[in-house]
Amino acid sequence: MLQDRLSTVEERLTLACQRAGRKRDEVLLLAVTKIFPAEVILEAYALGLRDFGENYVQEFEGKYPLVQHLTDARFHLIGHLQSNKTKKASELFCCIHTIDSPKIAARLNGEKEVFIEVKLSEEASKHGCAPADLPALIDAIAALPNLKLSGLMTMPPWDENPETARPYFIQLRKLAEQYKLPKLSMGMSNDLEVAIEEGSTIVRVGTALFGKRQKPQ
Ligand SMILES: *Cc1c(COP(=O)(O)O)cnc(C)c1O
Repeated sequence: MLQDRLSTVEERLTLACQRAGRKRDEVLLLAVTKIFPAEVILEAYALGLRDFGENYVQEFEGKYPLVQHLTDARFHLIGHLQSNKTKKASELFCCIHTIDSPKIAARLNGEKEVFIEVKLSEEASKHGCAPADLPALIDAIAALPNLKLSGLMTMPPWDENPETARPYFIQLRKLAEQYKLPKLSMGMSNDLEVAIEEGSTIVRVGTALFGKRQKPQ
């Protein structure tokens, strides 16, 4: 049941924060609801969750009519954003974690909180800004008054052993420190403890809350 899974995740977050000498409220739990129906968002909302992560603009567009009455819910885009989806994404999401080019940033409308997705390894993901290109992208975003750049996001290569992700999390934290960005979107179901130890401020958790997903269509 979702309630039990949420308690387990909360316990993991609390323990990880304690071990890291951090306060629980420094870390936001972002519930990743991709592939699951809108009812799952409603159920999680009823249990007190307010921040939801979705990967596919088109999929969330279908669910949105069923959740748009949740006026204090915040919907975050955590999947890759294509330029032909920027208009729709601007309507649906308040926060976008996957900015990886000046072009995508410039196409967003409205007040948005944004994160730059950083590509830290060859196999990690096909998308993301290379560390060397960060200064130019940060400057480009700073020139757009509707965007507030909060921090960096990354997705390490998936590995059963959560320790494998640690060097990537350390690297992302160092980049955020270097560019004076306060937030770090890093850590998922399998490695949230390691991410919190390395300074994560947003963990993106799907499977540990909602169970295994079907493959996307
Ligand atoms: C699916 C996804 C998650 C959640 O992953 P889990 O392992 O199910 O917790 C987090 N971040 C991104 C970018 C995702 O695509």
